[in-house]
Amino acid sequence: MLKDFVSNAALLIASFSIMGVLFKDKPLYPSSPLSSKLYWGICFGILGNVLMSFSIQVSPNIYADLRHLAIVIAGAFGGYIPAIIAAILIAIGRIILFGFNSSAILPASGAFLTGIVCGFISALNIHRTAKAFIMNLCGLVIISIIFMIRIDNSEVLRNVLTMHNLISLAGGLFGYHFFVFVVDSNETQSQLKHSLIRVKETEERFRLLAEYSSDMITMHNDQAEYIYISPAVREVIQFQYPELLGKKLETFIHPDDVERTNNMYERALQKGSAESTYRYRSKFGDYVWIESTLKSVPYQEAGEKKVIIVSRNITKRKLTEQKLQEANELLNRLSYMDGLTGIANRRFFDETLLSEWSNALDHHAPITLVMFDIDYFKKYNDTYGHLKGDWCLQTIAQAVNQLFPEHSRGAFCRYGGEEFALILPSADREKGLQAAQQVKDTVHSLKVPHKSSEIADIITLSIGIATMYPTKSILPDSLIKEADSALYFSKTRGRNTISINEKPERIPT
Ligand code: GH3
Ligand code: MG
Ligand code: MG
Repeated sequence: MLKDFVSNAALLIASFSIMGVLFKDKPLYPSSPLSSKLYWGICFGILGNVLMSFSIQVSPNIYADLRHLAIVIAGAFGGYIPAIIAAILIAIGRIILFGFNSSAILPASGAFLTGIVCGFISALNIHRTAKAFIMNLCGLVIISIIFMIRIDNSEVLRNVLTMHNLISLAGGLFGYHFFVFVVDSNETQSQLKHSLIRVKETEERFRLLAEYSSDMITMHNDQAEYIYISPAVREVIQFQYPELLGKKLETFIHPDDVERTNNMYERALQKGSAESTYRYRSKFGDYVWIESTLKSVPYQEAGEKKVIIVSRNITKRKLTEQKLQEANELLNRLSYMDGLTGIANRRFFDETLLSEWSNALDHHAPITLVMFDIDYFKKYNDTYGHLKGDWCLQTIAQAVNQLFPEHSRGAFCRYGGEEFALILPSADREKGLQAAQQVKDTVHSLKVPHKSSEIADIITLSIGIATMYPTKSILPDSLIKEADSALYFSKTRGRNTISINEKPERIPT
């Protein structure tokens, strides 16, 4: 009899394994959907019937087995629904398997009653293990009562009860824990499956991000060699994906930008991130402007640091910036240029005089201003016409301008109308006189005819010179006034002449 009970317990456990595999996607919990509870209830019912088929005949019409454990496990894990379904199927099976007679009513009712009792116990708010134990005890009480009613021989009754209760308790304990193991391993497997799906989804997401980004994403080792390049490499620098693998970043950088780019790479490795713009040799040999953001990868693989670079081609932007800069420079030049003569204008004169004045003040140096005016220019216009007058202004301006190279400090400017001014920094009276004489001679050598002039038959100039040693109490305007009055003096002295302001006192240094 012991052997038969043990086989019954083994059958129970084997069945749990099969059920666990069959329904691994439909776990059995009190909160499981109704459909899962139905499947499991039917399964436990079938299991009860299988156990019944292997029952041990302990006396004529009396069979002992572990069928109630199917109801107990169903109730402990899934609540009253699977417990009652299993109980009903076992009750029906008892009648079908062993025939409908008076002796079948009692065990069938016993199975049904076990289902009801297990259903109630499953609603208790206690741990699942305790529920299973109480259910098993209740099942055993019901079966023992049936045995007591049916078995007259006290010797047989004692044997059957002892054997059955012992095996049931042991089988119940073992079966319960085995089912817990089946349920837990199914759950772990399902969690693992979901984790794998999530990892795959995340991987796919990142792959799509890298592959469909219009920015080029590359990964480099600590030697700055390419170890990953996103497909945008074709649009950004026209290379094909494998062509750059294993090559060093600096191989393609413009020689003038290599040092800066290497520093940028070192900074990314040391500090975690860096940014740079540089010229990169594309596949076709031309250089394109690249803007990159570098980040060193926080994890380390085989002791190697990795750097991820996100790069975009900014050549169009750079060209636009360059054009804009050129336009700004031109605008700046134009704003300081006289439109008619092409030499510096009054604005430039004012700013230069101010800066040279303060420069002279700082260095206790003299500053000289030479101003000149074309004699009888109104008459020139009246005689030759305004356009010819313009030409005359241009000719004189250009000729004088060539006397003073652009790189030398100071400025030659059109002061207004037919008046011009020459700022000579660090120049004393003598240098001023020299410059004025040079100007006078240059214009004289042009021999521009002026038949209406009252003093000559060519264009002549009246020139005024002023030299000063700036002090904090004197404004630069006083230098203009001095030069202007010297010029006026030249006019009153008969024109075509040079006058100079009174000898300035040297400021002690
Ligand atoms: P003075 O010898 O006393 O300097 O006599 P002036 O006729 O040269 O001086 P005035 O101030 O009487 O006349 C200056 C003339 O310069 C009048 C003006 O039409 C002319 N002028 C000023 N700017 C321009 C210019 O841009 N183009 C031309 N063609 N003439 C100009
Ligand atoms: Mg004038
Ligand atoms: Mg004049």
